[in-house]
Amino acid sequence: MRPPSSSGTSVHKLPEHVIQRIAAGEVIERPASVVREAVENALDAGARHIHVRIVEGGKLEIRVEDDGAGIHKEDLPRVVERFTTSKIRDEEDLERVSTLGFRGEALYAIAVSGRLTLITRTRDEEHGWKAEYQDDRLIRLEPAPRPVGTTLVLRDLFHHLPARRAYLGSVRQETRRVVQVMEAMVLAHPDRSFVLENEKRILVHAPAVPDVKERLGQLFGEAFLERLKHRTFQGESWEGEIWFSSPEDLAGNTAFQWIVVNSRVVRDDRLRGLIYRALEIPPGHHPRFLLVLRVDPAWVNWHIHPQKREVRFHPDLPIHRVLFETLRGAVPGSGKDAPSALRQTPPPSSRVQEPPRPSTERATLFAPSLGGNQPLYAPEKTASLSSVRGVFVHQVFATYLVFEQEGELWMVDQHAAHERVIYEQLLQKGDQPRELLFPLVVHLSPEERSLVEELEEELKRTGFRFRQVSGDALILDAIPSAFQYELDAEAFRALLHEVAHGSGEHRLDRYRKTVACKAAVKAGDVLAPEARTRLIEAWLACKTPQFCPHGRPVVYRITRRELDRKFHRPGSQASGGKGAAGREEKPG
Ligand code: ADP
Ligand code: MG
Repeated sequence: MRPPSSSGTSVHKLPEHVIQRIAAGEVIERPASVVREAVENALDAGARHIHVRIVEGGKLEIRVEDDGAGIHKEDLPRVVERFTTSKIRDEEDLERVSTLGFRGEALYAIAVSGRLTLITRTRDEEHGWKAEYQDDRLIRLEPAPRPVGTTLVLRDLFHHLPARRAYLGSVRQETRRVVQVMEAMVLAHPDRSFVLENEKRILVHAPAVPDVKERLGQLFGEAFLERLKHRTFQGESWEGEIWFSSPEDLAGNTAFQWIVVNSRVVRDDRLRGLIYRALEIPPGHHPRFLLVLRVDPAWVNWHIHPQKREVRFHPDLPIHRVLFETLRGAVPGSGKDAPSALRQTPPPSSRVQEPPRPSTERATLFAPSLGGNQPLYAPEKTASLSSVRGVFVHQVFATYLVFEQEGELWMVDQHAAHERVIYEQLLQKGDQPRELLFPLVVHLSPEERSLVEELEEELKRTGFRFRQVSGDALILDAIPSAFQYELDAEAFRALLHEVAHGSGEHRLDRYRKTVACKAAVKAGDVLAPEARTRLIEAWLACKTPQFCPHGRPVVYRITRRELDRKFHRPGSQASGGKGAAGREEKPG
């Protein structure tokens, strides 16, 4: 900073481009801010799946892909201008914002922070458009293939702003910040699917789940979830729930603290402080918590922070008081005088899940590795053990495969694992056809016919063989050899319908997932010992073994330590791996 000159200060307006950069800097500070803004835009556009890739912590490249509504070609020159938005029109809208964005600043700020490219397509366009920007100007626009949705690519963040670049952390630090931002968004939107990956691996994989509780379990494991308490509370035009750690289970840092207001992740020190006070947290300790508030937008003010990370509620809303009293009621020996209605919080609902019944009648044909493998016939009464790399694989409930691996006890869902194996093989090399004993006549609707045409190449690549016999019928001669069961005409048509929506790569992917699901062994199938071993070996060789193609966990792992603890066995030195369905590690 320059000292004021002795001749007095001269007040002058800053040049426009300097003003612009200052304003942009309030929105985009680092790769994580780009990710946050881009993901919020994707969510606002109604995306169900959001895929984020970063290279070098996002400093070199950030890519955010969504299946939302897309951007109209005519809007492409405008979206990067400052204060252009499709989300509000006038002051009145400002009073009740329900989208995550509305200031029309983010794309502008992103564009002036690096080299921006948008590839996008709306429903009513035949193909996509690729738009390249230099600062806030569109410099190239050309057709590009793309399913409906938007891909934002930002390269070379702050390449022309060395001072800002210098403030960025190491690749690892910036990666961690991106992961934190993603984690928070993933928690705030359980109903959407998210993937975050860097050059090396998948860092966050979170398919849509029904609610926040499942999301917490999905991200941090059931064991973590079990340690949290849950309370709900509400008022007339708002409601909330909070998950929080008990006083005996405090953390040494603030890593596990999130506040979500109307699906937006905020940092609100008043609410935070209030939680500390209500739970009587001793100095130096920190509670873990996730606070989720849903408030009528008319009672919320977001206009105090350029990144909308702070929020004010209308002073008439007793949210703070009710939250405080709810938490007091949860602290043993306190809150005796809290109104009883507020303490009437139902215990966290535990879903009763019926275990799938093993079917003893059905024996299974099973060929875990694709391509010419002879299916294995598994009579129901076989020896119960077989081995993977010298380790025995046990089958329980005719549903799970259990074995020892890396000093841990692993329980694998046989259907999910097989689905994963088939899916990855379909992806990489397709499958061989298996001739049907009796070719199948399938009658097709016009829509189904056009689906067969569109998918023809992929159908063949993955092992289907068919002949068109008349306008509306085809004969199916062979099906992918991965199928454990014979496929009937209805099942083939159902398969087509599964992929009827969506297009391009999304459709192909959905097709492969559906085939994998229909082809895989089911819960209840009795597997021969060799089949179990083969399945586990094939599964361990997968690229992303920990999740089935639909994103459900495949494996549940218990460390030696956890087992020892259950049996009150002191001081086991066995090293503990991560808990259930670890997010980052790849088994095998
Ligand atoms: P805001 O989100 O505040 O409206 P932005 O600068 O973030 O402002 O985005 C500007 C506009 O660009 C949005 O209003 C929206 O119309 C469009 N847009 C940005 N990203 C996407 C996306 N991923 N999908 C569809 N439209 C988008
Ligand atoms: Mg936005």
